[in-house]
Amino acid sequence: MPARQPGRDPAPMTAQAADRPFLWNVAGLLGDAVGADRAYDIADATIELPEEITLAEPINGRVRLIHTNRGVLAQARLRTALATECVRCLRPTTVPLDLTIEDEFLPSIDLASGKAVPTDEEPEALRLSDHHELDLEPSVWDAISLAEPIAPLDRPDCPGLCPTCGLPLDEGSHDHPDDDIDPRLEALRGFRPETTD
Ligand SMILES: [Zn+2]
Ligand SMILES: [Zn+2]
Repeated sequence: MPARQPGRDPAPMTAQAADRPFLWNVAGLLGDAVGADRAYDIADATIELPEEITLAEPINGRVRLIHTNRGVLAQARLRTALATECVRCLRPTTVPLDLTIEDEFLPSIDLASGKAVPTDEEPEALRLSDHHELDLEPSVWDAISLAEPIAPLDRPDCPGLCPTCGLPLDEGSHDHPDDDIDPRLEALRGFRPETTD
């Protein structure tokens, strides 16, 4: 969080912080009747992801938060695209991702009494923060890693790399007579590891 600059009015309080697109304060929603909901548009959101995951597009979609009798149910339909490479030809490619998230968050603090809710019965449950904040970012992470294809292709019929010259088979000619050695491989032919005998 950047330090507030002195002399400037603090930003107006909103339920959704600008720098945390998947964090909402749901105290108001928890004060409403069970079944009440709030909907939020996600527009060009970016989040920090583990280093091995790179998004080619920001995240867009819609999140609905519903007050349940246990807590808050978060339903999200999001789309983005993963920057990756084709497993056959290794050229960079992007894979569109459609994410569906449905996670229920239970309170940590009872809204009426302000007392901590015992969590030992459901230690694995997702929890709202002590300040009644719902952080959907870890759920978005999980959804992205689950949606990541194991073997992405730049096109469904990608022929891959030529076993003779190592270049993509769909680029250039691969009519290689035995004596027609790629000049780049020719250079390697002169390079032989030294043997001791
Ligand atoms: Zn390919
Ligand atoms: Zn070839």
